[in-house]
Amino acid sequence: MLDIQKIRADFPILSQKVNGHPLVYFDNGATSQKPQVVLDAISEYYSQTNANIHRGVHSLSQKATDAYELSRKKIQQHINAQHSHEVIFTSGTTHGINAIANGFASLLQKGDEVLVSALEHHSNIVPWQMLCERTGAVLKVIPINQNGELIQTEYDKLLSANTKIVAVNHISNALGTINPIAEMIRKAHTVGAAVLIDGAQAVPHLKPDVQALDCDFYVFSGHKMCGPTGIGILYGKEAWLNQLPPYQGGGEMIATVSFEKTTYADLPHKFEAGTPNIEGGIVLGTAVDYLNSIGFEHIAAYEHELLDYATEKLSEIEGLNIVGTAKEKTSVISFNIQGIHPYDIGTIIDKKGIAVRTGHHCAQPIMDFFCIPGTIRASFAFYNTKEEIDILVEAVKKAKAMLL
Ligand SMILES: *Cc1c(COP(=O)(O)O)cnc(C)c1O
Repeated sequence: MLDIQKIRADFPILSQKVNGHPLVYFDNGATSQKPQVVLDAISEYYSQTNANIHRGVHSLSQKATDAYELSRKKIQQHINAQHSHEVIFTSGTTHGINAIANGFASLLQKGDEVLVSALEHHSNIVPWQMLCERTGAVLKVIPINQNGELIQTEYDKLLSANTKIVAVNHISNALGTINPIAEMIRKAHTVGAAVLIDGAQAVPHLKPDVQALDCDFYVFSGHKMCGPTGIGILYGKEAWLNQLPPYQGGGEMIATVSFEKTTYADLPHKFEAGTPNIEGGIVLGTAVDYLNSIGFEHIAAYEHELLDYATEKLSEIEGLNIVGTAKEKTSVISFNIQGIHPYDIGTIIDKKGIAVRTGHHCAQPIMDFFCIPGTIRASFAFYNTKEEIDILVEAVKKAKAMLL
């Protein structure tokens, strides 16, 4: 069992008051809070290690390079990648998806198909639309059912020899649906399509095994898993990363440069042009260590308890409708109250110190599917409590009474 009070003490921000009330932070789907070890690691990096990496002969540069590369190895082990050079540091999920979508421009032709799902974040839609515009490829969409689950029989029908890449999320940020990606990856490979998994919402809740999943690419952000903003990971199978062209040109990513011809550096540097977010890369390793010290089995079990508790309590409110009722869900609850705009509820409960997200959650197609302008989304982390859920439920009840 987790000692939640002890864990909460690791997060200084959680003990503050907002609008005169203790902060209830239920916007973990947008970004997670950071434990003291992560804050300390940021400060320690700049006060003791700061130097540019992979360049200097001097000791401090070596120290920074070693710490950065050690973190890469840590992340390799965490996601069970075969090689550490398959782990590319990026600025986040969005960067990783754009790098791959851009690379595929050299491989696609008119009539080829790119498959995304109706459950995607805009980050996993727009880069593929841009790719299709450039190449004449066609974007196809795997539909969802009323529970917010991908319809697998429709997916089967969409897959064909024309499908070149399938891009789906592991877990939906708007609804919390956990997609059966292992099976979807296996099916995509039977038609020769590559698969990119958007793992942004998965990595705070589980430990992905990229080799067991057999995905070709897996991308995520550090800031949703207790790490800093501006750092993320693009995992790609070695053969794919060797085949794709680099995303950006500049320093660090070259082997030799002349005005006649430039040759690219080996992996992972080929995809890491320019001075990277060195501190972010190092500290992401600290965040991964922190999460592993708590244990993902414990995190998943506890968050599931919170999900069940909140689902039960919120469902007791008359007129409240939960959007996204998939069988396999993580600790995200999107809901609406009949006759009230989500924004109005969000604004009123903010006065009580409760942070939720309202709106379309960067997933407008999902809202269109359910014919709603948006939802109120409460997304829980392992440092949240049932007492906080009680505070949310009471505040929603009061807001409803005020607004109706
Ligand atoms: C947050 C999120 C993204 C975008 O991540 P950034 O950190 O903003 O690049 C993409 N997909 C999903 C599912 C997300 O939750």
